[in-house]
Amino acid sequence: MAEASTDLASLIRKEAARLGFAAIGFSSPTPQPLALQRFTDMIEEKRHGEMSYMEKRMEERANPSLLLSCLHTIISVAISYNYSLASRESLPKISKYALIEDYHPVVRGKLEKLLAAIKILASEPLTGLITVDSSPLLEKNWAEKAGIGKTGKNTLLQVPSAGSYLFLGEILLDRALPSSKFTLPNVCGSCSKCLEHCPTGALVEPGKIDASKCISYLTVELKREFTPEEAAMIGDWLFGCDLCQEVCPCNQQASITADPSFVLRNELVNISTEKILSLTKSSFRELFYGTPVFRIGLRRLKRNARAVAENLKKSQGLKR
Ligand code: SF4
Ligand code: SF4
Repeated sequence: MAEASTDLASLIRKEAARLGFAAIGFSSPTPQPLALQRFTDMIEEKRHGEMSYMEKRMEERANPSLLLSCLHTIISVAISYNYSLASRESLPKISKYALIEDYHPVVRGKLEKLLAAIKILASEPLTGLITVDSSPLLEKNWAEKAGIGKTGKNTLLQVPSAGSYLFLGEILLDRALPSSKFTLPNVCGSCSKCLEHCPTGALVEPGKIDASKCISYLTVELKREFTPEEAAMIGDWLFGCDLCQEVCPCNQQASITADPSFVLRNELVNISTEKILSLTKSSFRELFYGTPVFRIGLRRLKRNARAVAENLKKSQGLKR
């Protein structure tokens, strides 16, 4: 029986590689008190900003078996979007993950194919639940437990040879598969480049983030208008922020590059604030539909563009 599970696990790994996943691992849903404590500390210390959804569904975070009865295995996967992009210094910027198609349907589609393959490979009926940001799983914790990566000082999962430009997904399975028996070593060592380069001090200490100061949170998650301080903090970022990943040696040395499903939308790379501020509802839809930027809507994108235009004007004035 154990041998059959090992064979199945190895066949699943092969199928995942064929589908383009950079990493896959298995873990059993045992309690994770440390990970849960780190999460609740973030809420209690109000480092989650105004993301009130994070305060909800705590029982499921603590116990993923509430998401699927008879849960035996959490399959964690990572897929790379590490494509090359020319330097965009002093230009309005959109984070790399948002210059391509929205990853949710892409990752879900691949996980559906993987689950279908697992059902064929397994010799008995099984049930699987696919999640791509759609459940309250502590997904980095499960990915670490599955042995596919290690969280760096920038709080992101670093996968060997693939870095951190990754999308994560999971399949919850009602069948036992052999869990990973190892945890990867710490990837950061004495490096602290991400902490040094974060322009807002959002990385308050290694591995600890104050989301309310993070440009990604301010430009993507925050729904209201900016305070003057927040508007200044976003610098030249129109949507998201990649600074703590750009400086990371793990990304600079990554040999696994973007899955071909993620095709760069060139027209968005050097988009100007003027262009964004002139968009109508229909031209916004035409330009951004199908990308992560579309989700925040035109009002918030224009809010970001106004702040970036002002910040660039000020920094160009200072340079003269
Ligand atoms: S995404 Fe940007 S603002 Fe947020 S922690 Fe990283 S460098 Fe700092
Ligand atoms: S920049 Fe350095 S410290 Fe930060 S996550 Fe990468 S390796 Fe770790």
